Amino acid sequence: MSEDLWHGRYLDGRVPVPSPTTVRLGPMSLTISVDGQEREWAYHEIRQTQGFSPNEPVRLEYGDEPAESLAIDDHGFLTAINEAGWAPQGRFDRPDLRRLKFFLSAMGLVIAIGTTAMLYVTALPLLADYVSRHIPIEWEERLGDTVSETLAPTGARVSDPACLEPMQEIVERLTAAIPDCPYTIRLAVVENDVVNAFAAPGGYVVVFTGLIDQAETPEEVAGVLAHELQHILQRHGTRAVVRELATGVVIAAISSGADGLETLLGAATQLTGLSYQRGDEDDADREGMDLLARAGIDGSGMIAFFEKLEGQAPDTPRFVSYLSTHPPTEDRIARLNSLRSASYITRPLLDESRWNALKSACR
Ligand SMILES: [Zn+2]
Repeated sequence: MSEDLWHGRYLDGRVPVPSPTTVRLGPMSLTISVDGQEREWAYHEIRQTQGFSPNEPVRLEYGDEPAESLAIDDHGFLTAINEAGWAPQGRFDRPDLRRLKFFLSAMGLVIAIGTTAMLYVTALPLLADYVSRHIPIEWEERLGDTVSETLAPTGARVSDPACLEPMQEIVERLTAAIPDCPYTIRLAVVENDVVNAFAAPGGYVVVFTGLIDQAETPEEVAGVLAHELQHILQRHGTRAVVRELATGVVIAAISSGADGLETLLGAATQLTGLSYQRGDEDDADREGMDLLARAGIDGSGMIAFFEKLEGQAPDTPRFVSYLSTHPPTEDRIARLNSLRSASYITRPLLDESRWNALKSACR
C-alpha cells in the first residue's frame, strides 16, 4: 500500500500555477515529487482543508503562509493514508465514516426539530399563559387601542347619542356586576350591516349595527356583551397575541435569516385577526352567563341569540364573520341551557320604547 503512487497537483504557495506531482506514503511523511525534486511533508504538520465530501478534490496544506498545497482527485488516497496507520488519528478525513457522520447529523437535526416541536406544543402555550397574565394593563390597553382602531376606525363609528347612551347603559349594568373590574370598558358601535361583535385587549368592546339589528331584545345584546366582556377579563385576546408572537419568534429562531424575519412580521400583522381557542369560547360562555345572573339580566337572551345564529347557513355573508369565531353548535346551545340558572331575580334592561328607539338610532 505504501508503495502506491498517487497523482496530484502541487502549488508552492507563491506561483499560482500547479505542477503535476506524484505522492508516496512513508512511515513519517508524504514524499512529494515535483519536477524531479522530492519534498517531505511530516504527517503531523499537514492540514486537510478540502475533500470531506466526494464531490471536491482532497486538498492538503503544509507550512506557514504562504502555505504549500497539494490537490488529489482520488479519495482512495484518504483511505490509504488512514489504513497505513502512520498518520495521527483524525488528521485525515475517513470516507468510510461519512455515511455514519451523515446519519448522526441527520439524527441530530431530527432531534432538534422534535425538541422544538415539543417546546412549541407544551412549553410555549404555558409560557404564553404566564406572560399574558403578567402583562401590565397599560400594555393591553395600547394593544387593544391598535386592534380596535384597525377593525373599527373612528370614521366608521356611530356618534349618535340616541344609539350610544342606551347601549352604554346595557354595558354599565354588566360592569356594575364585575367586582373590582381592572379595566375601563370602552364601547364602540360600528355602522356596518355585518352581524358582529368583538372584544379587544384592555377593555375595548366593539358592536356592529348589524348585530343590534338582528337582536330582538336588549337581553340578546347583553348576552353577546357579557360573553365579549369575559374575553377581556380572562385576557383571551392578549394571550392569543402573545402566542402568535411567541410562535413567530420560535419560527424565526429555527429558520433564521430573512424567512424568519418575514414570519415574525407576519405574526405581528395578524394581531388584528384575534382568534380564540375553543376552550376560551367555553369559558366566555360560562362566565358570561354567570355575569348575566349577577347583573340580574335574563340569560335566555344570550341563548336566543346563539339559536338565531344556529339557524343561519354558515356562508350567509352578513353572519360569516361572527359564525366563524362563534360556531353556534347544538353542543354549545345545550351547554348554555344547562348553565342558565333559573333561580335568580331578573330586572328589565330597557323598556320597549327605549329599546325601539335604540334599534332605530343604531343603524
Ligand atoms: Zn367569543
